[in-house]
Amino acid sequence: MSTYKTEGIIIKRNNFLEASLILNVYTRDYGKVEAVARSARKVKGKLKGHLELFLDTELILAHGKNIDTITSSFTINSFSNLRNNLEVSYGAYYILELVDRMTVEKHQDERIFYLLKRVLLFLDNVANKELSLRGAERRSNPVTTREEFSHGIAVSPCGAPRNDINCLILFFQINLLNLTGFLPELNKCVFCGKPIKSGGNYFNFSMGGVAESECASKDIKSILISDNAIKLFRLFQFKSNDAKEYNLHLKKSFEIIKKLKADRKLVLNSVFLMNKFIEFNIERKIKGVDFLKGV
Ligand SMILES: [Zn+2]
Repeated sequence: MSTYKTEGIIIKRNNFLEASLILNVYTRDYGKVEAVARSARKVKGKLKGHLELFLDTELILAHGKNIDTITSSFTINSFSNLRNNLEVSYGAYYILELVDRMTVEKHQDERIFYLLKRVLLFLDNVANKELSLRGAERRSNPVTTREEFSHGIAVSPCGAPRNDINCLILFFQINLLNLTGFLPELNKCVFCGKPIKSGGNYFNFSMGGVAESECASKDIKSILISDNAIKLFRLFQFKSNDAKEYNLHLKKSFEIIKKLKADRKLVLNSVFLMNKFIEFNIERKIKGVDFLKGV
């Protein structure tokens, strides 16, 4: 039986037969792979504990007629902080579900792998910081003011502890939409092609982007969208076919997200709008979005 080795992140995990597992893994070299891990739930099974959700792992797989088999798994990163923080893990579950729903099997895209890995690392860091704050007196969030990191986007009158996670989720949604071919049009009216001016614009799902108010009236399903939401989407949108360049862009973007002081309501509404756009495109519900309402 021929084997192959790759790094992958476990995005879906289901029990199979008495002691086995069926997993979806997003791998660096082969895209999403469905594989079986035999006896992985046996107490003394060599794979036990090495195939949990979120795990970033080095895998050896054997090609199978119907499904590949995981023969070995070596944990690279367990994201243990994220795993132990319920609220942060809600964001991570949502992200895994998006990757699983929006990608097709064995369609390789290294950029998606790096996007997923870096976002999980970011969330793990957030959870780690919270852990170190626990026990110590929690400082109340300082009042935020309009500053250089606002990028011209509305600034919240008061800080919100979960805003960085929501910003990160929005960033992830927009980037995954881009990488899977559903990139929303944000600069030209999707009906007539005229450049978008500020004020009174709409978002149209079936045309896939922003429409000026006159054109949007052609479709009653258009949703009013604020200039600040459009600015936020534009800030997070990036196109590059080069995985190295893309990786650098991710690093830079995360620095922006850490410092961005965008209005909490604006970010949350934008997350739900993009989720609806995703559901429209893949014609399926994303269950994990319900958890985000409490984040
Ligand atoms: Zn138009």
